[in-house]
Amino acid sequence: METVHIVSSLDDVVAGVGGRAELWATSAAPGGTLDIERARESLRVSGPPIVILVGTGWGLAPEVLERSAQRLVCIRSPRTDGYNHLSVRAAAAITFDRLLSQRHG
Ligand code: SAM
Repeated sequence: METVHIVSSLDDVVAGVGGRAELWATSAAPGGTLDIERARESLRVSGPPIVILVGTGWGLAPEVLERSAQRLVCIRSPRTDGYNHLSVRAAAAITFDRLLSQRHG
């Protein structure tokens, strides 16, 4: 937990990683175009730090989505009614596992 820092704005997050970062948004809604395979490839090459954004409640604010360079394809549900809204901790765990786990390579 000592690696966790609480800051008050997205600008502070970007400043904290050197002032230059690529923002990747997540959402339960369709519309994301960055699939996990391409995202994993991007993470393998050097470039600016990538900040993965997750929301609360109703999700990320529209201005945060607009500011993001990429939006990851949403995590789909096996449910037949299409409902795929996860708790943020579940969504974050699945996203980071898919992005970073050796199992998905
Ligand atoms: N209506 C919001 C939306 O469409 O993103 C749901 C908010 S959810 C309670 C909180 C956060 O969890 C979301 O902002 C997103 O970061 C993440 N999340 C929830 N379900 C997700 C999914 N199926 N795919 C990707 N991220 C998801």
